[in-house]
Amino acid sequence: MEEIINKDAEGFANALKKVTIGNSISIGNFKLFGEKGQEFNNERDMLEGVHGYKFPLLSGDLQLSVQLYENISKHYRLFCFTKFNGKSGMTFSMNLTTEKESDNIIFLTQKIKFTEQYEGSKELGKAHRRQKQVILAEMLHNLDLTVTDNNELILGIYNPEYKSFVNTNGVQFLNDFIVTSILKGHFQGNKGYQLEILPSFSIAERIAKSRDSEISQLPSKVVDNKSKRNIPLGMRYKVLHRDDFKCFKCGRSAEDGIKLHIDHIKPYSLGGLTELDNLQTLCNQCNIGKSNKFIG
Ligand SMILES: [Zn+2]
Repeated sequence: MEEIINKDAEGFANALKKVTIGNSISIGNFKLFGEKGQEFNNERDMLEGVHGYKFPLLSGDLQLSVQLYENISKHYRLFCFTKFNGKSGMTFSMNLTTEKESDNIIFLTQKIKFTEQYEGSKELGKAHRRQKQVILAEMLHNLDLTVTDNNELILGIYNPEYKSFVNTNGVQFLNDFIVTSILKGHFQGNKGYQLEILPSFSIAERIAKSRDSEISQLPSKVVDNKSKRNIPLGMRYKVLHRDDFKCFKCGRSAEDGIKLHIDHIKPYSLGGLTELDNLQTLCNQCNIGKSNKFIG
């Protein structure tokens, strides 16, 4: 992980400031209607308060603010703050990082995880956090977002030189960031709001009533950080660059309104390797249904 230089972060902020998302965000086929909302004052916000929104839910108004600034550990991060019925706080944030092999390309990534503590058994709390992690990661994957095997969300790859994203566009990126934040808050449970369209997840009650012996019944997923199926960020950029930032099948680029994913040509599960020759750029539409149906 390398440092982002201020000029690049400012360029990214300027690009994001120009993005407008209209009167709704899309959660798959569902539209959540909203409008520009009150600013959350923060002098450090490089987006200067332009991305404040209000989403009316059945039980009240969800106020949301997207902010970008350098945090205390000297990292640029994109933050989402929410306010709902008097409860306010940071709901989701993600790192702006570069990596060695791809110079100053900015990757917006974040591991999907829950950290809240519960009263009661530590083991049960841990199991429930993992359960929520699995459910949220799967939901984001189903919404066409890139989530790796070790639950890392890769939301955007931004080239400061081109002043644009190479795998998505600004509107889509902002939409996806807000959607991820709202869903995270929904499952976190301590943000005070729930989306009516999603199953509720009343953790506190379940923790209080559950027993350690039930842990084994909770869904789990073996997380292997060293899985060779995971495509490193630098390699992802190389494939995108080699394929001219276009879908290998239909030729469309992110400017045409699609999102670009990196795909194993011969699936990993069938012995395909994670190397440049076995990777290709596919858009979210051409990628549908392909996953393991490798022919030839
Ligand atoms: Zn395509």
